[in-house]
Amino acid sequence: MTSPARPARPARPSRPKGAGQWALGYSEPLNANERMKKDQGGLEVRDRILNLYPHTGFDGIDPQDLRGRFRWWGLYTQRRPGISGGRTAVLEPEELDDSYFMQRIRLDGGRMTADQLRVIADISTRYGRDVADVTDRQNIQLHWIRIEDVPAIWGALEGAGMTTAEACGDTPRVILGCPLAGVDGDEVIDGSAAIDEVVERFVGDPTLANLPRKFKSAISGCADHCTLHEINDIAFVGVVHPELGAGYDLWVGGGLSTNPKLGVRLGTFVPPARVAEVWHGVASLFRDYGYRRLRTRARLKFLVADMGAEWVRTTLEKEYLTAALPDGPPPAPPRNEGRDHIGVHRQRDGRNAVGFAPRAGRVSGTILRAVADLADRFGQGRIRATTTQKLVILDVADEAVAPLEAELAALDLVVRPSVFRRGTMACTGIEFCKLAIVETKGNARDLIEELERRLPDFDEPIGINVNGCPNACARFQVADIGLKGSLVPDDAGEMVEGFQVHLGGHLGTRSRLGRKSRGLKVTADGLLDYVVGLLETYRRERADGESFADW
Ligand code: SF4
Repeated sequence: MTSPARPARPARPSRPKGAGQWALGYSEPLNANERMKKDQGGLEVRDRILNLYPHTGFDGIDPQDLRGRFRWWGLYTQRRPGISGGRTAVLEPEELDDSYFMQRIRLDGGRMTADQLRVIADISTRYGRDVADVTDRQNIQLHWIRIEDVPAIWGALEGAGMTTAEACGDTPRVILGCPLAGVDGDEVIDGSAAIDEVVERFVGDPTLANLPRKFKSAISGCADHCTLHEINDIAFVGVVHPELGAGYDLWVGGGLSTNPKLGVRLGTFVPPARVAEVWHGVASLFRDYGYRRLRTRARLKFLVADMGAEWVRTTLEKEYLTAALPDGPPPAPPRNEGRDHIGVHRQRDGRNAVGFAPRAGRVSGTILRAVADLADRFGQGRIRATTTQKLVILDVADEAVAPLEAELAALDLVVRPSVFRRGTMACTGIEFCKLAIVETKGNARDLIEELERRLPDFDEPIGINVNGCPNACARFQVADIGLKGSLVPDDAGEMVEGFQVHLGGHLGTRSRLGRKSRGLKVTADGLLDYVVGLLETYRRERADGESFADW
């Protein structure tokens, strides 16, 4: 039951905004990250990246820029090759730095044209050793980037209408959107225009570039809820208000990492025309009230958990919005429990969206260039990244589907993948990530290949999320089988690379976090046998029609 709009309240700024928690009476010492941001904003490193550091080289980069502000432009130092997770604990962070960078390119809504994808592909082949990853937040991430090449890389990206601004750092990160936005006949509302407005008005806005921590957003009317609204800091979920029409239900305070929390509804209805205002209000509330003393408690989810949805709504409406928001309905249940848009889906205009799966997100510049060319040949040059490390080519005519599928298969990109390839994701892991304890992409590839070989007739949808450390970039807490990189004892008692296993996580009609069992640890070498055994037991013991998620 919904109620009519409440009367508008005037905005009443209660205190100076923009200085964050330190303006509330907290004083020094700031932690190192807050100190760095106070000394100089992250966005301000741009000029040095373009005009100074390419000349000084890697060794001339100020450490505060290198390990701090560079992130505001999507640059992380990558892990020095050959250093294993077991040694990480005794090394200083700088000992893990390689002189190469990971470069994250933000693709809001996961949207790319073929021309843009060719630019990314060319950068990968020319500057990044032909490696590229499609991430589960619809970014593309390149590796092996040298500081000397960044000006040319940014010039190419920006010339093609892309940016790396705020791809990382304590900022508003890429905004998730449904890959089928604007083409799916079942969508509640097309979130593309709202995403564009938020990006155009607020990405790179210095007043929002010093948040307590990262701020993850999703805006979508996807009938499958593919943008995972439950685990974003802020999510606009398409709903139809009985009197006001299509708009959004507002969720806040979701996030995984080391202390996972599912987001909560504020019970408001957000008309499409007010999305940008409301997004800005919540981001500003987070900036001003979010915790900053401890990095481990600085995400919005902790403030929401402590203060409650009612306080967030009241504060948002009183202090940040021009008028209160009406109450609104919750989202309808998802159309499908799977949220990946893999396979062939009819668009509302009669053409098709063709979604396909690489292996755990790893591709190359060479493959991306071929995908761009296929999108031109068989579609209208529109490509989308999904939230499950997959890609979609839009606008494919019926007669072009089969030839496109064949050409994709020749690139090892599969439109009708096994449940294992479809459901497996992996984070960056120890190959490039300095926080990693465990290798991930290779383990995931091996897992897919061996599960396909050993369980060829297994057809129950299954999510296997492989993570290199507790930070949960590949969302181990919401997978059927969630794997968290850890050092674990082998048979001889030696600590080796392995995984803590979390079982039964799920997002959908019955969202819940996976169960961690204290004894459930496997070595990386024993992972395959463990997963095969688990799935065989499930098949043997399940009740008729019982899914793995409900088992
Ligand atoms: Fe790196 Fe850990 Fe994130 Fe994996 S989960 S990408 S290892 S921080």
